[in-house]
Amino acid sequence: MPSVERYVYFFGNGRADGSAAMRDILGGKGAGLAEMANLGLPVPPGFTISAKLCITYLEEGTFPAALRAEVDRHLKHLERVTKKGFGDARNPLLVSVRSGAAVSMPGMMETILNLGLNDQTVEGLIAGSKNPRFAYDSYRRFVQMYGDVVFDLGKLKENPFEEALARAKARRKAKRDIDLPTDDLKALVQEFKTIVLTETGRTFPDDPHQQLWDAIEAVFKSWNTRRAKDYRALHNIPDSLGTAVNIVTMVYGNMGDDCGTGVAFTRDCSTGERVLNGDLLTNAQGEDVVSGARTPEPIAKMKRGKLAKIYRELERLATKLEKHFKDVQDVEFTFEHGQLYMLQTRRAQRAGLAAVRIAVEMVQEGLITEDEAVQRIPPQDLDQLFHPMVDPRASVTVLAKGLPASPGAATGEVVFDADEAEALKKRGHDVILVRPETSPEDFHGIVAARAVLTARGGMTSHAAVVARGMGKTCVVGAKDIDVDPSAGRFRVNGRAIKRGQVITVDGTTGRVILGAAKLVSPKVGKEYGRLMEWADARRRLRVRANADIPADARRAREFGAEGIGLCRTEHMFFEGDRITLMREMIVASDEAGRRRALAKLLPIQRHDFEGIFEAMGGLPVTIRLLDPPLHEFLPHTREEIAPLAKRLKVPAAQLERIVHSLVEANPMLGHRGCRLGITYPEITEMQAQAIFEAACHVVGRGSKVAVEIMVPLVADVRELVNQTAIIRRVAQEVFHREGRAVPYLVGTMIELPRAALTADEIAKEAEFFSFGTNDLTQTTFGLSRDDAGRFLPFYVEHGLLSEDPFQCIDQAGVGKLIEMAVKLGRSTRRDLKVGICGEHGGEPSSVKFCHRTGMNYVSCSPFRLPIARLAAAQAALEEAGVVNRTRATV
Ligand code: PEP
Ligand code: MG
Repeated sequence: MPSVERYVYFFGNGRADGSAAMRDILGGKGAGLAEMANLGLPVPPGFTISAKLCITYLEEGTFPAALRAEVDRHLKHLERVTKKGFGDARNPLLVSVRSGAAVSMPGMMETILNLGLNDQTVEGLIAGSKNPRFAYDSYRRFVQMYGDVVFDLGKLKENPFEEALARAKARRKAKRDIDLPTDDLKALVQEFKTIVLTETGRTFPDDPHQQLWDAIEAVFKSWNTRRAKDYRALHNIPDSLGTAVNIVTMVYGNMGDDCGTGVAFTRDCSTGERVLNGDLLTNAQGEDVVSGARTPEPIAKMKRGKLAKIYRELERLATKLEKHFKDVQDVEFTFEHGQLYMLQTRRAQRAGLAAVRIAVEMVQEGLITEDEAVQRIPPQDLDQLFHPMVDPRASVTVLAKGLPASPGAATGEVVFDADEAEALKKRGHDVILVRPETSPEDFHGIVAARAVLTARGGMTSHAAVVARGMGKTCVVGAKDIDVDPSAGRFRVNGRAIKRGQVITVDGTTGRVILGAAKLVSPKVGKEYGRLMEWADARRRLRVRANADIPADARRAREFGAEGIGLCRTEHMFFEGDRITLMREMIVASDEAGRRRALAKLLPIQRHDFEGIFEAMGGLPVTIRLLDPPLHEFLPHTREEIAPLAKRLKVPAAQLERIVHSLVEANPMLGHRGCRLGITYPEITEMQAQAIFEAACHVVGRGSKVAVEIMVPLVADVRELVNQTAIIRRVAQEVFHREGRAVPYLVGTMIELPRAALTADEIAKEAEFFSFGTNDLTQTTFGLSRDDAGRFLPFYVEHGLLSEDPFQCIDQAGVGKLIEMAVKLGRSTRRDLKVGICGEHGGEPSSVKFCHRTGMNYVSCSPFRLPIARLAAAQAALEEAGVVNRTRATV
């Protein structure tokens, strides 16, 4: 027998055709109503029209023939259950028509209340409620909502209904709608209908059936309003989901003071505390809470006085729902003359800190298992635990949006120059460094600033990588801002923000906010430690940190690092006077000059390496040989060249010529990585010497070391052979001089497609691989890391890419190269140690991918270690097939 597709699902009276598992068909609201009805909770009866019909309707402009009959049948059933008649002038059945997609899209689509009212049925409502004022207020609201939604008058800039209402209130000197007398409300109903006629040329329908069908169509159409589309694009919600339509018997919170409506959370979603909380309005309908027209009161007020009984009932139902869904619920309720109704339940959104506390306490309460607690928390939420953030309740003016490069939020005065940032910081000012983009030149400014904002650059640009490593708030690639440092201002969407003006940078969301937004600082509780214990016990992937200086290494251990996966040695030269030495080396015209500069760099490097080895206490430390795209270190302007020339005792004009000769058209693909050490072997010699001497000194002081030397940007095994020979030779020389040997490995980064393609050859020489996915993404896509910010957001917004590949590993392309390289590498060296040290090492979906490819570890900035630990545990649980029951809840 052919199966007949079902379009309509009933709920109410202690049973439902659907359930929470049918979100895709019933939408979140419909699934929640069905599940609550099945649980015997007091849900006003109704039915849900399948979300599957939405897209068909939008494409074809018509409903399947069978739908009308199915809706009519359910309407009849609803009449029987409620003992009322749809369109019955004496005892009218009135309904709400509500949207509800599988994924919550708060306020984005339409709802119509009190449908079924006309000049006859309103008399029935008066008779039933004995409250004419209430009846006409309901009628007035219905015509207004219907006019806004079905006749599309809500889109007018000046809403004619609101204007008429304002005139009526002004005549009576009434502050609130609720204060208008019945006659005025009655007159408003007629005035509203006249507005519809004059604005649209169409008559307001009296027939409840026509009202219903037009409303159903309008709700389906609201799936494609501009705001709904924008919301979906922003939250990656597929356009193909569609919305369901819920037709629910009206219950009234606006029939008097023993009536009301509200929203409740079963726990506090900011702190995680186990306490029922939320907002309440007495004598009101749900729209009054949402619209903000009246200020609600905390529901705790219900505890004492006339509403205490309702409160106790609400508490009982909330507990029941939480136990059933095994998660915190966000519920909507209404009470009508003392009878409580539940109108919606859904999984409550929560702050990161609350998510951790709730999950851990639910394990302690026996509601969920440790596995479920580990699976339940989105790893990215842990970011919020260690950084101040913009108070979610604060209303803010967003100037622009960029890429959320490093989380947290900070407020300060705008400065455009690193020196000024440093000077102002010394005088006690909080500053935000705003630059078109940053370079090592700006490092001291980044250190001094509370946050960094750049107009250009992507997620792996200089500013992003440096700020993330320091745990400093940063937004990059805010392409709407036009920075003019010499004029001391930036322009953004018609405004000019001048030096000294206060802004807030929100690195968690990418927002640039005008003025000082209210910030809140989370406090990490003991629950975090417990959750991490559970995660660590479950993960197979090891976690390491990207850390360049001893202070970062110490911090990395606090965050749980089990080693250093990437020490970028060139970053050691950002600070203070060191950049000058580095420049001296780069601009040296011959080997002797380079050796002179290198000799000065040697003790500095050795000292830093000793600090890092000591901080890591015998855990593996991967040190990468010099890999600067030269442009990052070259002096650019005359002002930068002059002091360097003085120091090098060469004429400025001569140095300018040298600098010009070193400028590369495409420095990211230029004289960098192992190409430097191959053409100037003395650089590799100096670095190897510094590393081995440092290791010997630390071992001599009684500590352990595990040294891993990493060669960057290898494309061909012969490059690695060349560098390994130097490293091993220097090792023998140092061990001989120092009178002791230390264990060490030599490996390479895999960050060029050719290296991935020839990984079997490279593994013959390399003792470990570390995927440099920043460069591997850049070179696989042919997409500049520094310039991608100009157009990548457009690609993501318009669906040409589902994610920024510099944030999440592009598993289909770059990922394929990685999988292949791991297999090839281990085919020639079975015990090859494999890790990742690109920025992806701290991004949850990428960490899970690394687990699946069989890597040994991921390495990321210290602040992202908790995220990596949790994501690694989730990957292990997914692999073991532990079902995440959280997903099955509404
Ligand atoms: C990489 O390319 O992924 C990497 C870690 O190196 P860098 O970002 O320093 O080029
Ligand atoms: Mg690289």
